[in-house]
Amino acid sequence: MLNIILMGPPGAGKGTQATSIVDSFHLPHISTGDMFREAIAQGTPVGLKAKEIIARGDLVPDEVTCALVKERLAKEDCANGYLLDGFPRTIPQAEALDKLGPEIGREVSLVIDLSVPEEELVARISGRRVCPKCGASYHIKNMKPQVEGICDRCGAELIQRKDDNAESFQVRLQNYYSSTQPLVDYYKKQGKYHCFDGMVGRANLEKQINALLEENK
Ligand code: AMP
Repeated sequence: MLNIILMGPPGAGKGTQATSIVDSFHLPHISTGDMFREAIAQGTPVGLKAKEIIARGDLVPDEVTCALVKERLAKEDCANGYLLDGFPRTIPQAEALDKLGPEIGREVSLVIDLSVPEEELVARISGRRVCPKCGASYHIKNMKPQVEGICDRCGAELIQRKDDNAESFQVRLQNYYSSTQPLVDYYKKQGKYHCFDGMVGRANLEKQINALLEENK
């Protein structure tokens, strides 16, 4: 069963690889970042709580995030696999998922981590444009859409994320190092961890990840 976690620092290419994985393996794409942005757009209580936190690059509290994921993972479309993108981001979140997964028969099977040096992350984030509708990512220089400003995948108008500025990016990166990176050892101990070099190029990376998923599906 492909019950996958996709992790990596901001700008590592999670969104891009997630899009390709869910399209190839027909999995629901569960991006907590997308869920929060949606909640903000709709002005829900979760959105109101998360808005300022996300804008400055901090992490939304574990209770709020875990409750959201718990509800989402229980849905029927996750019965035959799922891709978690951007969750867990802290050890308590991983522990909550380890408790929940087996309870609902949806235990994590694989963790994919994308490794990219810091200088490259800065360049990627500053030129990033995203689709607010389907979550696809582009870059103004390195990964242009076919029609400028328009998503190739769903035709929506691309935007620059509010937290893709230098200041918020630094906060996100520091949060990544302090709260998320400890998950590497956590999942290594469970034998689920697979690290990929995020600098090999999009298509190459897709091929390598596909090979791992084909072996494990
Ligand atoms: P992302 O789209 O994955 O880069 O997430 C955007 C923002 O949403 C993050 O910078 C956090 O503020 C928040 N967020 C997303 N996922 C989580 C999570 N698992 N835990 C806490 N905050 C999160």
